[in-house]
Amino acid sequence: MFLIFGFRTKVHPLGWVAMACHVCGQGGRMALFREVTKFSLFFIPLIPVRSKYVVECANPMCRSRRTVSKSEAQRLLSGAPSHF
Ligand SMILES: [Zn+2]
Repeated sequence: MFLIFGFRTKVHPLGWVAMACHVCGQGGRMALFREVTKFSLFFIPLIPVRSKYVVECANPMCRSRRTVSKSEAQRLLSGAPSHF
C-alpha cells in the first residue's frame, strides 16, 4: 500500500499595508501575505502545521521579505497609526 504525504505551502494575499521597507527604506505600501503550510495526505491538505505572516517590499528593485508576528499583521491590516 502506498502512502503519499507531504507538506504544501499556500500563500494568501491579505492586502497592502502602510509600512516602510527595512532594506531599501522606501515608505508607502508593502504587500502582506499569509503563508500556511499544511500536512497533506494523498495530495489533500489536512492539518495546518505552520502559519506565518510576511510583508514584501513593493519596490521591484528590492522585493525584500520579512516575517511579522500575527499581532503585528493584524495591527497593520486594521490601519492603526504606526510609530516608526
Ligand atoms: Zn525594499
